[in-house]
Amino acid sequence: MKSLLNYIDGQFVTGKREFADVNPADGSVIAQVAEADQGLVDDAVRAARKALGREWGGWTIPQRAARLRQVADGIEARFDRFVAAEVADTGKPAAVASRLDVPRAAANFRVFADMITTAGLESFQTESPNGKNALNYAVRKPLGVVGIITPWNLPLLLLTWKVAPALACGNTVVVKPSEETPATATLLAEVMKESGIPNGVYNLVHGFGANSAGEFLTQHADVNAVTFTGESETGTSIMKTVAASVKQVSFELGGKNAAIVFADCDFEETVSGVSEAVFFNSGQVCLCAERVYVERAIFDRFVDALKRKAEGLRAGSPWEEATDLGPLISSQHREKVLSYYRWAREEGATVITGGGVPEFGDELDRGFYVQPAIYTGLPESARCVKEEIFGPVCHVAPFDTEEEAVSMANDTRYGLAASIWTTNLKRGHRVAQQMKVGITWVNCWFLRDLRTPFGGVGLSGIGREGGLHSLNFYSELNNICIRL
Ligand code: NAD
Repeated sequence: MKSLLNYIDGQFVTGKREFADVNPADGSVIAQVAEADQGLVDDAVRAARKALGREWGGWTIPQRAARLRQVADGIEARFDRFVAAEVADTGKPAAVASRLDVPRAAANFRVFADMITTAGLESFQTESPNGKNALNYAVRKPLGVVGIITPWNLPLLLLTWKVAPALACGNTVVVKPSEETPATATLLAEVMKESGIPNGVYNLVHGFGANSAGEFLTQHADVNAVTFTGESETGTSIMKTVAASVKQVSFELGGKNAAIVFADCDFEETVSGVSEAVFFNSGQVCLCAERVYVERAIFDRFVDALKRKAEGLRAGSPWEEATDLGPLISSQHREKVLSYYRWAREEGATVITGGGVPEFGDELDRGFYVQPAIYTGLPESARCVKEEIFGPVCHVAPFDTEEEAVSMANDTRYGLAASIWTTNLKRGHRVAQQMKVGITWVNCWFLRDLRTPFGGVGLSGIGREGGLHSLNFYSELNNICIRL
């Protein structure tokens, strides 16, 4: 049986306890994972602190950027191994891991190497009436040791989205990937070692959240900042923990995203786009749409077309080219999604399609698959319309006016993303600007430019990452005022 180890100060180390890494496509155990206890988390933080003061701390930006580009090359050199590890951990179609997760991980290192090399900082010439003039300029300093905690849905992509800018800014990191998906973070440790990233700069601890590696890391007095992606409720716990030592936080949390479809949309393109927004990665992307609002004039036709799309999606082995839908991440998560399917029926929904568990007649029956589901007819107050489900499911509701659509879309405590589907340019801009979210797409979904601000409003998060926003989070800006 394969072992996945912690990586501390450039060494792979075991722990006192192990837990199983399960393949969600067939329930098989892929590896045993070494869980980091308090002592190992302390070692990791100590190694990270020491590395700050050693060569990494003294390297110039071009030196650091060159190493980050080597990490990107190293990921690409192991492309197939990264894809295989991500697919085994998540069950997502290999085509998706090859097209999205692994290339984006390499891109994250290149983009932030470029950003740190080219980013300028503000300076002001200060003139005062008494003739005391000065030049103010800011310099960028690392935050120090950054704790990085990430989820299972896009494991490598979301981890590198934080590791790359943190290292670019001269920090050292201790990462805690999701217990469900420990493999690619471990493979990344190999790449770090081979790319000449000095010992102690990238440290990896495996384990769970509360009373395990996650909590040990967030409560550690010598960690300067915590950057976290995951559920809103976990964000609340982490916020309480870090309050004691006043750490900086960046939170990318849950969503209950809306898609608004106007009657003047390009119908076929919109059906495909909304289907992607609802069902991609079996609905396990924080940006997925779980609430679809459709102008009444095209409501029945749209629901019918979305139903045909959903029924045309093929669930199956992640390694088959024809597979569109992989499993959910775990049997526990499948129970959660199925309980929402039950609530939808109990709350009086009309089941347009799905809501059950597919049968394959082979080992995939031991996996954690669900059918994609579409519901209509629920009140806006229903649990399935209010709460994040994180599965391949949406509720579709009609609207009559633009104002009504905007008001329904914004009627949520979350505020991560929205998509608007219309061929009316003015309406596209007008509605987009009224969305209370961090990112709004018009006639597209999940089209990302890594230089743009990314984050959420309300329960969906704190702060923005992406481009300069990442550099600013992962740095302390130090203003220097020189009397002229
Ligand atoms: P989760 O919150 O259960 O776990 C995320 C990570 O936090 C894991 O590594 C876990 O071990 C750790 N953790 C859990 N409790 C902890 C604690 N008390 N202290 C420290 N660490 C703790 O989330 P998940 O189920 O892995 O991921 C799904 C969620 O992530 C969804 O809500 C989804 O919307 C959200 N998400 C958000 C974004 C975004 O960019 N906004 C992106 C992807 C996923």
